[in-house]
Amino acid sequence: MATTPATAQQLLAASFSGMVFGFLEDGQEFRESYSSSSDGSQENEAFLLDEEEEEDGDQEEKDRRFWENQHQLLQAILCRTNSLETRIRSVTKEAVKEINREGTECGCGKRMASGCRSCLVREVSGRLCNAGYNSAICKSKWRSSPDIPSGEHTFIDVVDSSNPKKGEVRVIIELNFRAEFEMARASNEYNNLVNRLPEVFVGKVERLQNLIKILCSAAKKCMKEKKMHMGPWRKQKYMQAKWLSPCKRTTSTPLLSVGNSGRLRPKPKESMLTVDLLEMLPNSFCITAVEVV
Ligand SMILES: [Zn+2]
Repeated sequence: MATTPATAQQLLAASFSGMVFGFLEDGQEFRESYSSSSDGSQENEAFLLDEEEEEDGDQEEKDRRFWENQHQLLQAILCRTNSLETRIRSVTKEAVKEINREGTECGCGKRMASGCRSCLVREVSGRLCNAGYNSAICKSKWRSSPDIPSGEHTFIDVVDSSNPKKGEVRVIIELNFRAEFEMARASNEYNNLVNRLPEVFVGKVERLQNLIKILCSAAKKCMKEKKMHMGPWRKQKYMQAKWLSPCKRTTSTPLLSVGNSGRLRPKPKESMLTVDLLEMLPNSFCITAVEVV
């Protein structure tokens, strides 16, 4: 059984942290009313304090269970994967590995893997096309709403219609998945959860939706615990908008530029619905850089 001084200290600490502000006053009132009685006052006091301590313990227990639950949910989603996702994941990972190993440069003269995200996305998507997948660069764009600000996001997808029973299956590929959820000054519990995410996400829309749900409710909990305001771009709606709002798909062939010979320029094939993606990418800069080289 905890001694009374320790319990009082805990209460003080708790009240200073602002968590149970009115309680100390209530407790004092109780102690005052009981202190007049000659016997059993200390027992009563200890009993009351213990009861309160138990309530604190309950909250701790609830918090512990919340994080444990998020871990289990996350693990369950990451473990389950179908053969299509597995195949696309291995092509994607191999492409990224190769680009890293070769030090592939894009027209910008930058190393694709470390510097030029837009060219990396194009290259990986192109290699997926070469491997026989209907892959494209997706650019999503959404308007602001009362809940979330407007924004846009670029990622890769594969639309698979090889299984007539399943119809069209869309697999989302995000090369910087973990970074999308990283937060400065987050709690250890939140960081532990984010660290379990793959750096490269390859999965069906439903799987992505479930991951977003888990991570965003964890972010909300984390910010609440830290008494910090959560930016609207951390909200589930915003995260979902990134990958799940209407987007323009642009297919492209790989750059094929290895080492310093950046002479081959990409010739993207664009679907009817797309605007000229090259205009949106820093491609004029790419071309200038090639000419200088
Ligand atoms: Zn580039």
